[in-house]
Amino acid sequence: MHHTPPIESALLAAMSAQAGPMGARAALVHLRDKGFEVSESTISRLLRELDDRALTASLGKKGRVLTEEGRRAAANLLLDSRRASNFADALNLRDVHDLVDHLAGRRGIEREAARAAALRARPEEVARLHEMVETSGSGRWQERLGFHRSIGEVSHNKQIQAITTTLFDERLDPLEHLLVLIGIKQEALVRWDEEHRAIVAAISARDPDRAEDLMVVHLDGMIRDTELFADGGNAHVIHAVLAEIEST
Ligand SMILES: [Zn+2]
Repeated sequence: MHHTPPIESALLAAMSAQAGPMGARAALVHLRDKGFEVSESTISRLLRELDDRALTASLGKKGRVLTEEGRRAAANLLLDSRRASNFADALNLRDVHDLVDHLAGRRGIEREAARAAALRARPEEVARLHEMVETSGSGRWQERLGFHRSIGEVSHNKQIQAITTTLFDERLDPLEHLLVLIGIKQEALVRWDEEHRAIVAAISARDPDRAEDLMVVHLDGMIRDTELFADGGNAHVIHAVLAEIEST
């Protein structure tokens, strides 16, 4: 997919918001207002590129307008950025309630991921999952988002993959530390480890019902552990870690 640079998105958005044609000078002022450090030559090169790609059309001295294709591109970019900010908002966890909701959302997606993985994972992918849970069993096991990310990948379901890659974004790595902390305090790490192995065994046995059930049990357990941890007078610990994540 063509990745649109922010400056190009900003320019297309500005032209789409404007009723008439936009001149190079107005485009320059607008982009500088938006915080882009651009020169006049950069602007004219950018505008020529947009012309070449038939996203804009020149009206001579009056400036340029978006073509129909350009308007479509601008509308899509707007949708993309709304979607991105919706996700960013959802991943901005504030309290125990948000964290439990996050795990419950994961349970809904990941049960389908585990199911699809049992049906679709390639033999070499199953081997990699085995390796992942075996090497982690040597006493230094931690609840790893990596395991969950991998299940999403090997589901070979585009819809699931799109959601899981966003859910397991590296920005959420500090969340893993929080879950490890909860796992240690609730003495749940060994159990989580065993559950990971059992999920891989079910995927390996090509048993979708069992893989799905085990994933639900695994996330139910994590939700319960999180609630018990919070109820045990540790809600402030969760809030402090989440606040730290948000500020990074
Ligand atoms: Zn897990």
